[in-house]
Amino acid sequence: MSLIVQKYGGTSVGSIELIERVAGKVIATKEQGHQVVVVVSAMSGETNRLVGLANEIQGDAPRGRELDVLLSTGEQVTIALLAMALQKRGCAAVSSTGRQLGILTDNKFNKARIKSINGARLKKSLDEGYVVVVAGFQGVDEEGNITTLGRGGSDTTAVALAAAVEADECQIYTDVDGVYTTDPRVEPNARRLERITFEEMLEMASLGSKVLQIRAVEFAGKYDVPIRVLSTFDEGPGTLITFEEDVVEEPLVSGIAFNRDEAQLTVKGVPDRPGVAAHILGPIAEENIEVDMIVQNVGSDGTTDFTFTVHRNDYNKGLLVLEDTLKNIGGGQVGGDPHIVKLSLVGVGMRSHAGIASRMFTALAQEKINIRMISTSEIKISVVIEEKYLELGVRVLHEAFELGQENEEKNSG
Ligand code: ASP
Ligand code: MG
Repeated sequence: MSLIVQKYGGTSVGSIELIERVAGKVIATKEQGHQVVVVVSAMSGETNRLVGLANEIQGDAPRGRELDVLLSTGEQVTIALLAMALQKRGCAAVSSTGRQLGILTDNKFNKARIKSINGARLKKSLDEGYVVVVAGFQGVDEEGNITTLGRGGSDTTAVALAAAVEADECQIYTDVDGVYTTDPRVEPNARRLERITFEEMLEMASLGSKVLQIRAVEFAGKYDVPIRVLSTFDEGPGTLITFEEDVVEEPLVSGIAFNRDEAQLTVKGVPDRPGVAAHILGPIAEENIEVDMIVQNVGSDGTTDFTFTVHRNDYNKGLLVLEDTLKNIGGGQVGGDPHIVKLSLVGVGMRSHAGIASRMFTALAQEKINIRMISTSEIKISVVIEEKYLELGVRVLHEAFELGQENEEKNSG
């Protein structure tokens, strides 16, 4: 018998009506002859509400053990309600918290990682005919403390369970009907992808396409769990996230991702000698500022320019750190721009095709969009541009690489 893990996000279980509706979908799946494990998030807004309560006591950044005790309650509510809704419809169902299911994590509160899952226990309940409803986003450490997996962590719970019981598919039900070539709010002509590879999805997710928690995608790639992203509200096949071998006739470019949260920091005229990069970036790292793209110019007159990007929230702190550093290096001026964005083309097809970069740069140039920085990897080309050109840039590239709905035939693999 095939086994399916379904995960329903907060917007899918945001009210009693919605929970009843999810119950109907779960039963329909069961009636097709599958064993079903259901992972649920807290009702939409609930985790934020709980964080807010903690903030009132602990200030802006509540942390640690008690926060996890608090946050884990959101999912405990939805598992019980969904199990009741299933039982009311005559479907044998049992709810389970992370701890009850033996989801063992490390002890990093608020961002714990799953170490192991007691799959035997889950299998036993399934074999007895139960739908098992599992609280997402939580586990227990070796000492029995409740832990949570970081925001969006129910996705990871679902994938980890699917891996543990070797499920045939992990279905992530959410409020969008799949993964798109780009954000449809920016490009209404964006198209739902039938399939995307894990690698591409990782790039898209890390660049801000927030359909899935990144860790869930990493996990799925590592343990070969096929994931399908589907809408709770519309019928449709969704998007299958899978292995490269399974994608026939891969398109050159699968999607365009962007990230609005970037800022650029520049140091001009620093002495061009060994150790300068380390000197500049060392103190930045010490302040826990994450650096993304880095560019150092070819030096002239014994000096060089050095530019990198950071999260926009870290911009001011970064400027201060650099001012300090320059005093020690002796020379250079600090500058920057908090209004930049990163735009990326993503596609495994790029591996085998040259010329994608120049096509990208030409398309941007035709709209007089200036490129500030460029970086590339095997399956991605990213550029930094001014924030005001973000929407235009996305649309131009979407068009240049024929990603729109009218190209469906041509590009569908
Ligand atoms: N309820 C948690 C959150 O809002 C986990 C999840 O929904 O995946 O982040
Ligand atoms: Mg979510």
